[in-house]
Amino acid sequence: MMTRQVWRLQRRPRGDIADGDLEFVEETVPEIAEGQVHVRVLYLSLDPTNRIWMSDMEQYMPPVGLGEPMRGGIVGRVVKSRNPAFAEGELVAGLGAWTDLLVSDGAGLQHMPELPGISIPQAFGTFGVVGPTAYFGLLEIGQPKPGETLVVSAAAGGVGQIVGQIGKLKGCRVIGIAGGAEKCRYVVEELGFDAAIDYKAEDVGAALDRLAPEGVDINFEQVGGPIMSAVLGRMKLFGRVPLCGLISTYNATDLVEEPGRWTLILMRRLTIRGFIVTDFAPRMGECLQALAGWMLEGKVKTRQDIRPGLDRADEWVKLLYSGGNFGKLLVQVSPE
Ligand code: NDP
Repeated sequence: MMTRQVWRLQRRPRGDIADGDLEFVEETVPEIAEGQVHVRVLYLSLDPTNRIWMSDMEQYMPPVGLGEPMRGGIVGRVVKSRNPAFAEGELVAGLGAWTDLLVSDGAGLQHMPELPGISIPQAFGTFGVVGPTAYFGLLEIGQPKPGETLVVSAAAGGVGQIVGQIGKLKGCRVIGIAGGAEKCRYVVEELGFDAAIDYKAEDVGAALDRLAPEGVDINFEQVGGPIMSAVLGRMKLFGRVPLCGLISTYNATDLVEEPGRWTLILMRRLTIRGFIVTDFAPRMGECLQALAGWMLEGKVKTRQDIRPGLDRADEWVKLLYSGGNFGKLLVQVSPE
């Protein structure tokens, strides 16, 4: 009999994720059935949306049911297969669960190519969710043009670091907003952003007035709240806002509806468009090819923040909402 470790959602969090909302259990795994695969999970992706999936707020896919394994992106190796689409030993990635052994019918799993020069966590941590989110959100909705000013919040995180670098490749002047001097130093000195604002140490509006006195063409919005408000108020005519995320609101006990800025949106003729990366699923090949090319040429760098131990996933996920992660947050579940 095989066993596995798995986190199950026991209670919908009220506010911050608390002890007891998730339960870590060891359970036996039934013999593999026809059509199934067993995947030894190597890395688990922790994402801000995990908190949304734990809740029953309006969202873009069904919430995780109480008692069910917590949903999460995974990469791992097929260890047993009774599904002709997957061979034993193959590397696969996709939507799975917070577990060391995924039992799946293969739905939502894809073969993951192993690229020389790009490690498994780097490939998974870039191509899985954050890279396509940055690519489509910026290029399709942001429509960057040379010489324009692009502002990106959560700039040193998984999505933000890539948005800023693609913005530079497209000839924009890029200003990142991040929490803390080290994250700000990283995006400017190591990723080539033009400037960074440490929102924990300075007033974002005043800093934007200094750094972008002509205003902002594109606001790649990931945070919401006062940071979004400060950037929106400084948008130029015909500015674009790819609305990617609102992380400052995810742990609120009640739904936070951002106050409308309808007069400003009208008078400045802004385009604000919410999107979910899966909206662009049919075009994923194009995006992965572009991102892999830029990475291999050294034009886009990505940083992963890899934490040890599936048993501590409930602790690691909270880092996302306090800024404790630095780069795309992954958990190493099993050795490669
Ligand atoms: P990150 O790696 O950027 O981690 C989250 C970061 O958000 C933290 O490190 C922290 O950075 C910042 N943050 C957290 N709380 C606050 C707050 N109250 N105020 C300001 N900043 C805060 O995560 P991802 O790159 O995975 O995701 C970034 C955003 O993109 C999220 O909003 C997420 O929901 C969204 N997203 C949307 C997708 C889509 O399809 N629309 C897909 C993937 C992500 P700091 O230290 O700088 O404060």
